[in-house]
Amino acid sequence: MQLQTPLTVPSTNDTVVAPQLLLEQSALDMIMAYVNTPAGTEINGFAYVKKLADSNVYYVATADDVFITEQTVTVGSAHASGEGYGLALDRALDEGRDDDLRLQWHSHPSDVYFSPTDRTNIENFGRTAEWFISLVTNRQGELRARFDSFRPVRIGVEIEVAAYRVATPAMIERARADVAALVHQPRPFLPRKRQGRNRTAAAAVVTTDK
Ligand SMILES: [Zn+2]
Repeated sequence: MQLQTPLTVPSTNDTVVAPQLLLEQSALDMIMAYVNTPAGTEINGFAYVKKLADSNVYYVATADDVFITEQTVTVGSAHASGEGYGLALDRALDEGRDDDLRLQWHSHPSDVYFSPTDRTNIENFGRTAEWFISLVTNRQGELRARFDSFRPVRIGVEIEVAAYRVATPAMIERARADVAALVHQPRPFLPRKRQGRNRTAAAAVVTTDK
C-alpha cells in the first residue's frame, strides 16, 4: 500500500510543557514530618495526586492525601516494595481513591537522586498505572521528582516540584469583606446636560477612523 501524498499533520499551536508537581504546603509538611521523626530511619510513603484540568500540572491537595504503610526498612535505606504498594492500593480502594494513587515518595540519608533500585521500582509501578510520580527527599528537605508515563508511550522525565499555599476560609472571608468595604471602582461616565450651558453628550461623539 502506498502512502497518499501530501501527508497532512494536524497543525497545533500547543507548546509542549513539562509536567510539574505542586505540593500544597501542608502536604509537603506532612511528608517532612514523616521523614523527620525521631526514629531516624528512612521512610517510604504514598500520596494521592490530582491532575489540574487542561494542564500538565499535578498536585497533592492536603496533608490527608499523604500516608505511609507498614514497612520494613534497613539502616540508611527505605524503598518502595510490591507489598507496600499493595497495602497502599488496598487503602486507596477502601477510600475510593485508587485512581489518585499516583505518587510514591521516600527519603534518602543524604544525596537525593533516583538509584537503580528506585528506577526498578518505578518500572514495576508501570504494570498497574498509566503514569506515576516518584519523589525522593531527605531531612534537609531537598526534593527531586520524576514523572513516568507507561502507556501509550514510555516517557520518564525529572520534573519541577513546587509548594503552594491555599487561603483558609477565614482569610477568604476577611478579604471579601475588606474588598467590599475599601476597594472602589470608577463610576461609569454618564454625561449630563449642564444647566445654562450648551454642552451635551453629543459633544463627546468620536469620529470613526477612515
Ligand atoms: Zn531511593
